[in-house]
Amino acid sequence: MNENRDKDFERHHTLLIVDDDEINGDILSSFFEAEFNIMRAFNGKDALDLLKQNNDVIDLVLLDIFMPVMDGFEVLKARQKDSDLRKVPFVIMTSEREIEKECLVIGANDFIKKPYDNPEIIIARVKRMIELYEDRSIIKEVKKDKLTDLYSLEFFKKFAHQFDILEENSPKDILSINIAKFHLVNELYGHHYGDIVLINIATYLKSYITKVTKGIACRMDADEFVVYCLHHDDYSEFIKGIIKAINNPGIHVHVGIYPNVDKDLDKDIAIGRVISVQQSIKEDLNKVSALYDEKAQNKAFFEEELINCFDEAIEKKQFHVFYQPKYSIQGERNVLSSAEALIRWIHPKHGMISPGIFIPLFEENGLIQKLDNYVFNEVARQQAEWFKKYHFYLPISVNVSRVDIYNPDLEKEIIEAVDKYNIPHDKYYIEITESAFSENIQEVIDLTVSLKNKGFLIEIDDFGSGYSSLSALTELTFDVVKIDGSFIRKIDRNEKNKDIVKMILDLCKRLKVLSVAEGVENEEYYHFLKDNGCDIIQGYYFSKPLPVDDFNKLIEKELDYER
Ligand code: C2E
Ligand code: CA
Ligand code: CA
Repeated sequence: MNENRDKDFERHHTLLIVDDDEINGDILSSFFEAEFNIMRAFNGKDALDLLKQNNDVIDLVLLDIFMPVMDGFEVLKARQKDSDLRKVPFVIMTSEREIEKECLVIGANDFIKKPYDNPEIIIARVKRMIELYEDRSIIKEVKKDKLTDLYSLEFFKKFAHQFDILEENSPKDILSINIAKFHLVNELYGHHYGDIVLINIATYLKSYITKVTKGIACRMDADEFVVYCLHHDDYSEFIKGIIKAINNPGIHVHVGIYPNVDKDLDKDIAIGRVISVQQSIKEDLNKVSALYDEKAQNKAFFEEELINCFDEAIEKKQFHVFYQPKYSIQGERNVLSSAEALIRWIHPKHGMISPGIFIPLFEENGLIQKLDNYVFNEVARQQAEWFKKYHFYLPISVNVSRVDIYNPDLEKEIIEAVDKYNIPHDKYYIEITESAFSENIQEVIDLTVSLKNKGFLIEIDDFGSGYSSLSALTELTFDVVKIDGSFIRKIDRNEKNKDIVKMILDLCKRLKVLSVAEGVENEEYYHFLKDNGCDIIQGYYFSKPLPVDDFNKLIEKELDYER
């Protein structure tokens, strides 16, 4: 083992022996020449020249103190001022103990006593010193970035951990700073200029984390800097500082800000997030900074997850259709007249997810068409099942999204589903939201006319919530108007709201269409609506949307009445 290591050692190392006494130098050379490459100098000045030319090659200097032209003290002093020279260890050869202290003060690393008594010990000490220095320089290289003298990512993360412990109770932010199109800066102004820009940014960051706040900074990559510091509400001064440090209006900088980072969050993840928010504006030269928003990001992750597992959810039947009853309220008693199909996602990980969350999402990416098609089929299948069980067709309303209107096969899909289970078309109601026909009235007119001709009933959903003009109503053919729940929930606030609902109910009478009020939550609303001639009511006052098993009980109760 040791032998191998020594062989390895000898091949790579060069000693510089500096002594004006030739015989002394020869004796030393003879000790080392079997294992080292040897260079010789005979005064301090020559030694420095050789060192400057061969800085990368020389691994250790054996230095005499008393020499002509330039003595060993002068050499050590010159070395103190030169960071490259400080990377090479200097061992002093001396017979005078008194000067050892003086040499140590100016940076000598070790001493060898003249005259040389035990060559083996001398060789061993020299080797040990070289090894020590090599280890140190390796650490140093990994620890600090050569160009900017900022920490490397590895050490940044270690110190970030210590910073967390040290400033345990203070909130902290993580920032990412990047130069827009840095490769162009290098191409336009030259690499040397690019380096200067990086150094100036680094210098500013160093002063920021010491003078303005407390923190640490690293250069992660070519033009990517990361700062971890105590929390600030406002980084506009920081950004101004960077722009000033760059000092070139042609060079843009992008800053990502992740405020109040949870200290237990893995630093790689935190850095990844702040970089991704910074990259989100990287094409936009009008924007300088972007803020990481934990809530928005979590929402985006959640939505992405929902989109990714949509197909599997359809396959595994995680979508369940719930039914909310509608009651006719103008007869002697309230009669279950129909129900609305409302979808729920029973997710294996997230539990019940309401359509208010996933419908708008699926409307954005078109998945809604597949989902609604699933509902069309599921509802018809359920109606057939109820027919088998209870011997009547319960009318069910299905929701058609405004995005479905763009599907050229929509009508075909509805008919296919309904006919597959032999459901009479007039027991299948189509709810089209008002916002759909304020967007594209002609398509909605064509669709409703065609569906009506085939015997389906059309309901205008969310009436009053959109901006459809009254004239649009005259162009459309429809059977039912569903007054938007937001109006119903406002009727107890003032007379004006009551008047609006009364007016809509009156309009329905004149147009000879049925009126449905949705979102009816209490008795007060119920009586107001009944007194003002509303035909049908849907809402928590009667029942929430129910899964089939529970809904069956409502049907059975209804059938009991009839008997
Ligand atoms: P919508 O069509 O206006 O449905 C009525 C919503 O009001 C339902 O919310 C229902 O649960 C809720 N609701 C009923 N009674 C009350 C009440 O008394 N008080 C209150 N506060 N709310 C009541 P849900 O089920 O969360 O559905 C939300 C929306 O999602 C629906 O609004 C509809 O636009 C959409 N949606 C639901 N299922 C489907 C579907 O299968 N396809 C499509 N395209 N959209 C659907
Ligand atoms: Ca860049
Ligand atoms: Ca509806």
